[in-house]
Amino acid sequence: MIKVPVNGNSLEREKLEKRIAQLCRFIGRSPWVFHVNSGSCNGCDIEIIAALTPRYDAERFGVKLVGSPRHADILLVTGPVTNQSLERVKLVYEQTPEPKIVIAVGACPTGGSVFYESPFTNAPLDRVIPVDVFVPGCPPRPEAILHGVVLALEKLALKIKGKLPEEGEDNE
Ligand code: SF4
Repeated sequence: MIKVPVNGNSLEREKLEKRIAQLCRFIGRSPWVFHVNSGSCNGCDIEIIAALTPRYDAERFGVKLVGSPRHADILLVTGPVTNQSLERVKLVYEQTPEPKIVIAVGACPTGGSVFYESPFTNAPLDRVIPVDVFVPGCPPRPEAILHGVVLALEKLALKIKGKLPEEGEDNE
């Protein structure tokens, strides 16, 4: 499990973008992402859209949302896992093929936030499914979400290639 620093917004966007591009080339594909709202207020979900659309534009590296977990490499989960969403979150996790990476986006799935120990929710997310990367913040800034994508890609590279790219190494 890895955690993005709370001040993820202090990271330089340009460095994050270069690292995303490098890791995508290294593993030989761009990750497809399935977004799971497990009962969020939609604050985190709007920041995910911001991370993918023109200002931050992770989509230009091929990081794009897909309509089915069966096609996804990465699950982006927001919200505190309400009782209504609990079984669906587990089902979506099961439906996602290996190697898969789970990113908990926001304070709710990361630590529970104000929903911690609520009888109506099941946060934090790692009580429900295995989580690889936590992105704290309420909501996290798009830079922090991009940082989470970088950490997820590094884990994918380790799972697929067994190593990370060397400095300046782009293609294999
Ligand atoms: Fe909403 Fe904050 Fe929870 Fe995100 S972390 S779903 S913005 S309450």
